[in-house]
Amino acid sequence: MTTSPDSVVREFIAEHRDAFLDDLATWLRIPSVSADPARAGEVRRSAEWLVQALRDTGFPVAEVWETPGGGLPAVFAEWPSGDPAAPTVLVYGHHDVQPADRADGWATDPFEPVVVDGRLHARGAADDKGQVFFHTLGVRAHLAATGRTAPAVNLKLLVEGEEESGSPNFEALVRERAERLAADVVVISDTGMWSAQTPTVCTGMRGLMDCQIDLYGPAQDIHSGSFGGAVPNPATEAARLVAALHTEDRRVAVPGFYDGLLELTEQERELFAALPFDEERWLSVARSGATLGETGFSTLERVWARPTAEVNGIWGGYTGPGGKTIVPAEAHLKLSFRLVAGMEAEKIREAITAWVAEQLPAGIRHEIVFPGPPVPA
Ligand SMILES: [Zn+2]
Repeated sequence: MTTSPDSVVREFIAEHRDAFLDDLATWLRIPSVSADPARAGEVRRSAEWLVQALRDTGFPVAEVWETPGGGLPAVFAEWPSGDPAAPTVLVYGHHDVQPADRADGWATDPFEPVVVDGRLHARGAADDKGQVFFHTLGVRAHLAATGRTAPAVNLKLLVEGEEESGSPNFEALVRERAERLAADVVVISDTGMWSAQTPTVCTGMRGLMDCQIDLYGPAQDIHSGSFGGAVPNPATEAARLVAALHTEDRRVAVPGFYDGLLELTEQERELFAALPFDEERWLSVARSGATLGETGFSTLERVWARPTAEVNGIWGGYTGPGGKTIVPAEAHLKLSFRLVAGMEAEKIREAITAWVAEQLPAGIRHEIVFPGPPVPA
């Protein structure tokens, strides 16, 4: 009887499960909270712990990487395949965690791992130390199943220490180390699992862009009895802008918005549709009474693979008790946009800027500010 590689992997994991969980628990006990300057030393200790663990796993290269901006350290590791034709796979993750305190509602100490009903509870267990560390067991199981002494692909690992603080130095780090990070495939190991029964590979994440639009009309609030109906009203124009943002079928109406977008393949749509998805339950989590979105797409397609324009805030004019008969001097909007693969941030920014200018009548002055980091040239 031959043993399939799959069953060898499963056996290997079952055999090493307890030791793996012990090691993971040791790492989880390090409170590597990147947002807390007082815990910068713990983030460093976490990086050093991981370097040692990766060396123990067999990675011939495992290093602490300082960030160019003097931030919290990342970890890099590399295990060449030995096969010159092998592709290079880079796995991304992070070893810092969100702050956590018993007072936040934790039933137990967030930095003292406990297993409850077969689930490991600790800060970082599911984001992202658990995911990162599982690769160490995965690669060992792979070697055991294939009899190899090095992985079938060139394996690289980049585990940053500032993800939970907005990755302020990550882009500079990646640019500085571009040569050593060169890869054919990048695996982001910082997402969820659909369910305990559904192995999950996340194949895309939406990006984010936001802006504030300020509309100015009369130099001050003016009386609507004397002027109303004969001069442009910034609040009305803000509402017209919002109303024009989507077409009847809930597509974003900004010309050029969908340019370059990678449409889902038929296979991707089939895979999405095949997932066990309880829309009622999803709606109850959303605390919403119904779904609504771009015509022709399922809920999962809408939230995973379609770009959006969202109105996050709208204000201006008189909002106090009673009435006040004015044409207000100004009105404001906060909009955000979810972007998907193929869309280019700079082009979207230009398209939105041009569209807003086109929508507004003479007599309405406007400013549009995108507060995000500058898009690299
Ligand atoms: Zn994460």
